[in-house]
Amino acid sequence: MKDLREALERRKQEGLYRRRLIAQSAQAVHNFIDGKHVLSFCSNDYLGLANHPQIKQAFVEATDKYGVGSGSAHLVNGHSQLHHDCELSLAEFTGRDRALLFSTGYMANLAITSALVGRKDVIFQDKLNHASLIDAAKLSDAKFLRYQHNDLAQLKWLLDQHSTARRRLIMADAVFSMDGDKAAAKNLSLLGRQSNSWLMLDDAHGFGVLGENGAGLCEEAGLTQQDVPILMATLGKAVGVSGAFVAGSEELIETMIQSSRSYIYTTASPPATSAAVMQSIKIIQQESWRREKLFELINYFKKQAALLDCELMPSDTAIQPIVIGDNHKALDMALKLFEQGIHVTAIRPPTVAENTARLRITLSAEHEKQDVDLLIKALSVL
Ligand SMILES: *Cc1c(COP(=O)(O)O)cnc(C)c1O
Repeated sequence: MKDLREALERRKQEGLYRRRLIAQSAQAVHNFIDGKHVLSFCSNDYLGLANHPQIKQAFVEATDKYGVGSGSAHLVNGHSQLHHDCELSLAEFTGRDRALLFSTGYMANLAITSALVGRKDVIFQDKLNHASLIDAAKLSDAKFLRYQHNDLAQLKWLLDQHSTARRRLIMADAVFSMDGDKAAAKNLSLLGRQSNSWLMLDDAHGFGVLGENGAGLCEEAGLTQQDVPILMATLGKAVGVSGAFVAGSEELIETMIQSSRSYIYTTASPPATSAAVMQSIKIIQQESWRREKLFELINYFKKQAALLDCELMPSDTAIQPIVIGDNHKALDMALKLFEQGIHVTAIRPPTVAENTARLRITLSAEHEKQDVDLLIKALSVL
């Protein structure tokens, strides 16, 4: 294993070594991690629901009734009433005919390509898509093409070039996970409809946060099941629990149940996670103040950061990265912030392109303006 040791050493030299910190408290903006109390600006728990008392209670009560493990796959005897009810509630919330639960977003994305495309088909993806979408395309037998970020003219050209393919599937992050900007969803849906191809949006970072009721980017942009036939979102970020779902037509969901390998060949998630998700969805719908407060904080952060003359990205979501460029410099800045009690992660290649290492700052409805002031102050002395 000498070559592994050398490769690991090279990684360190290039500032690409990844290290896990050990969280010793519940997920919250005030965190105890690696033996240090920190104010955290790197979680995807955008609404502060990961440690919410009512959601925890729903989880505990469901555990009392249903136990811990589901025991088997959904198609054997692991599909509990709670999973089923949760799917109905997600379908209703997103205005789709049906929804299908997955243990993780990564698996949901693999499921989509494994059920829908094969050798005669073409997948088109935005260059900045999440790794799970890229892997989903690579693991399929379909031809895989990428277009420049949000470049719909290029996408249209590529679609035209492949007009004879059996199926054409467009896949994009709804909110780009490392940049924070949004897909041109309306125009993507028009292009999808005009070209008779399928549009899939991954709303991992919009679900719970965007739209009047928190149903995500499709709600915000007024896009129906006809506009975005394949909607995927995760349940471990703003929803604060775990898992993911795909929502769409009866035929779509039934096809996935019949043939998605990452649906069929895996144990169903613990039933209690579905009870927690349902409780979280209720809170998301009822407590719009969480979204309002989050967007106030986002605007406040952007205004204060602009005064610092640090370069923000064109994002108006909770993801507010500051591009540093050099890997070592980004790591060093994150370390200095951590020493001052502020936790922000340095995101480096291959998660982002070479020379665009960044501090990925995320905001949460649990933050207060004073917290943002502390972050700005710490950034100003770096
Ligand atoms: C986090 C994320 C996923 C993966 O979801 P998990 O439930 O964490 O596996 C998929 N897509 C995007 C855009 C994400 O940000």
